[in-house]
Amino acid sequence: MATTSFTKKALGLETPEPGVTPPPAAASPTFVKKPKLPSRKSRKKDIPEGLWTKCPKCATMVFDKELDENLKVCARCQYHFPIGARERIHSLVETCTFEEMDAEMTSVDVLNFTGVASYTSKLQSYQKSTGLKDAVLTGICKIGACRLALGVMDFSFLGGSMGSVVGEKLARLIEKATEKTLPLIIISTSGGARMYEGMFSLMQMAKTCAALAYHAKARLPYISVLTHPTTAGVMASYASVGDLIIAEPGAMVGFAGPRVLKDTTQAELPPGFQTAEFLLDHGLIDAIVPRKEMKARLIEYLNYLMDGPR
Ligand SMILES: [Zn+2]
Repeated sequence: MATTSFTKKALGLETPEPGVTPPPAAASPTFVKKPKLPSRKSRKKDIPEGLWTKCPKCATMVFDKELDENLKVCARCQYHFPIGARERIHSLVETCTFEEMDAEMTSVDVLNFTGVASYTSKLQSYQKSTGLKDAVLTGICKIGACRLALGVMDFSFLGGSMGSVVGEKLARLIEKATEKTLPLIIISTSGGARMYEGMFSLMQMAKTCAALAYHAKARLPYISVLTHPTTAGVMASYASVGDLIIAEPGAMVGFAGPRVLKDTTQAELPPGFQTAEFLLDHGLIDAIVPRKEMKARLIEYLNYLMDGPR
């Protein structure tokens, strides 16, 4: 019996080692008492969120209010931050002239698609976080004195992917423009076709382009504005068939991404590949227009292009 208790004590199993035990609080309060530090959680609360944004290009901390006033463009290096569809419409369109079309149209999960999460739950969560029903807003509005049909995509909704709703809303917008003899502007930003809708998303490429063909037949101008990034199915359909194709500075524009191309072709890609500047040099786009000049330039282009039909 005695031997067992001795062994236990030696191994420190029965009672804790005296040296590790903190001395009683009353012994020497000033020495033992730890200063009360605020916990990480409460410290985080003290710093107001969303006041500064770090520019990913020049690493400058930009004051958010300044960034908003500057249409989300870094004043130092002219980096164009992504901008939502509503903000963009606000920056271009004359106040209170935007009449939205098909505002309540939402996608249906025809394929019962389930990956990590179901398509339906993804749609719901994006609708909640962005306040949008899908990745495009369409409507008739006025820019300057010119009435026109305007479609603006939003990358924050499922990567601006083109599903049946994006295709249908744009097709209806284009048809409306043709019917009302209005010029058309589509501001694109997209990762491509929406894979959750499989074949149905790919069919939107043909549908939108067919509607555009009728619009062109009516001798009405279509200006395609490419913003960062415009790729894949969208670039391979309506984004690249404008009478005038303009892009924002530094926008990535292409079909497949540079990594895929590099792997497939096993060739070294030229510097600046797939940027708006590279495409302007190679004749795929007509102009690069900074965001702050966009409205004035669009008015200029519309006036010039609409002179014929008028
Ligand atoms: Zn910058």
